[in-house]
Amino acid sequence: MLFPTITVPKTIAKSILQGHPWVYADPKLPDLPPVGTPLRLVNSKGKNIAFGIVDEGSIVVRVLGTQPDSIPNLLRREIQSAALLRRRIIDHSSTTCYRMINGPGDGLPGIVVDRYNDLAVLRLYGKCWEPWLKDICVSLLELHEFKSVFRRFGVRRVDGSSGGRLLAGEPFQETLIVTENGLKFVVRPRVGQKTGLFLDQREHRAHIGRIANQHTVANLFSYTGGFSVYAAAGGAKKVFSVDISKPAIEDAKENFRLNGLDPDKHIFLAADAFQWESPEPLSLLICDPPSLSHDHKKDLNASKAYEELATHCAKQLRRGDLLATASCTSRLSQSKWENAVAWGLKRHGRWAWLWRAAEPPDHPVSTFHPEGRYLKFSIAAKMR
Ligand code: SAH
Repeated sequence: MLFPTITVPKTIAKSILQGHPWVYADPKLPDLPPVGTPLRLVNSKGKNIAFGIVDEGSIVVRVLGTQPDSIPNLLRREIQSAALLRRRIIDHSSTTCYRMINGPGDGLPGIVVDRYNDLAVLRLYGKCWEPWLKDICVSLLELHEFKSVFRRFGVRRVDGSSGGRLLAGEPFQETLIVTENGLKFVVRPRVGQKTGLFLDQREHRAHIGRIANQHTVANLFSYTGGFSVYAAAGGAKKVFSVDISKPAIEDAKENFRLNGLDPDKHIFLAADAFQWESPEPLSLLICDPPSLSHDHKKDLNASKAYEELATHCAKQLRRGDLLATASCTSRLSQSKWENAVAWGLKRHGRWAWLWRAAEPPDHPVSTFHPEGRYLKFSIAAKMR
């Protein structure tokens, strides 16, 4: 098969050969064919470096491997490998929702697919895949694990709107009940945040479930109460769930009911978590804010925001209490984020890290793609 070929300068060739999945816009690159075109990348000596697909914006080529292949073949192969990996790492008897395709970590930069029972929810982070939507759906349906493929919009650069579109298969239930580690959750793929649930916190929610017994818990930025349900199911005395979104708080109550937990024994508040302070002593505070970094030129501001939030949490806890906190921004490294949190905590007591974690196994991160590492989750204890 013949593909258009471009010559890439040395610096870009080096990063691609290491395994980085993105080629950034660079004046040293030649003109590129239209978005969505597969192409070969060679070095100045004409030696094959990689095979990729043309995109637009700051990432102009997404690298798909070393060997040229037809896009439908490549999609089929990578989607099958992604599915095989999930069969090996997910306990399907207790979990029916997980990330099926995690972009570059699964060899498919720009493509995210989350599984909710037999619904595949696709989210594109690059326009390059628009011409290949049919092929993505064919390969997903060929797995015989999905009945429908729904494309969820909301990545401003790519689709710029809310809602989504059924791409293939049967019309699906707009409100689904999925199971995560044996607990039930309502999901609304068309209107919920991201694809419906924040699947990346599954292992961390499970950890909270294991330590929450007898605790009085607050879950700030609770969304639909994921951490709250695990805490209550794990024996927490009382759980406060706080989120700015009213529909998310309503679903949090519903999630308690679905799991046989009485919502009247707990508190649900649609409120600003940056301002909210607990009316009673807490012993475990969970704080999983949305990304507080929106501009990479302003990393310092992001660090400040995490620092201030940590202070807001620390002042509500006493000696022996626990803070579980997270960050979902790739713009701050683990160490920068931890540093910001540590300085924020320092204003109220002395603290120690107990447990630190990152992306779960269904969110694989390519080893030479540091930008793919975004999730940080730490538990700290107030020592004095
Ligand atoms: N921990 C959750 C995911 C949290 S996502 C889970 O496990 O499912 C971040 C949440 O922060 C979103 O639900 C969003 O509605 C909420 N949010 C954003 N700004 C907020 C604010 N100022 N106060 C409270 N919640 C806020």
